[in-house]
Amino acid sequence: MLITNHVLAGALIGTAVRRPGAAFVVGVASHFAMDVVPHWGEERIFLRVAVVDGLVGAAVMATVAATAPPGRRASVVAGMVGACLPDTDKPSEMFFGRSPFPPALDAWHKRIQRESPRRLLQEPVVAAASALLLRRVWRGRAAEGVRARGRGRGRGGQPRSSGARDRPTGGPGDQRWVRSAGGW
Ligand SMILES: [Zn+2]
Repeated sequence: MLITNHVLAGALIGTAVRRPGAAFVVGVASHFAMDVVPHWGEERIFLRVAVVDGLVGAAVMATVAATAPPGRRASVVAGMVGACLPDTDKPSEMFFGRSPFPPALDAWHKRIQRESPRRLLQEPVVAAASALLLRRVWRGRAAEGVRARGRGRGRGGQPRSSGARDRPTGGPGDQRWVRSAGGW
């Protein structure tokens, strides 16, 4: 699986899992889960594609981190880092001659791959769908936040209770998204 898709999956995980530690762990798990899903892979041109993919992935990661909702930025970054971590064996082997992971883990990581040279188109399609989904989720949260902020205002336009900010109640007045509404 191309690293760009791992980055976007990590961003989605970080958006859903709001704690950075948990987002990191789920991000790592998502990497192996995605590697099990049939995806593109072709020895002959792999390196050339991997270099471009690495650069695109880094740019996507920087953009996502910069535009992430402020209240989710830490977990989004943690999710992306976790989702990419298992593939650091490749650049590490290229530049330093060895993987940072135990050989048994690397061997297992190689073994679980389900690659086919015929699935190259699948990768950008998955990337585009993930990016659109991420945008949609972030926009949806922003709209919820604006609505919740509207409900949360008492007389004089002030929030009814500043103590309730960013504390989810689960009820109709759920203010979960209030704090970050301005920045989404
Ligand atoms: Zn991998």
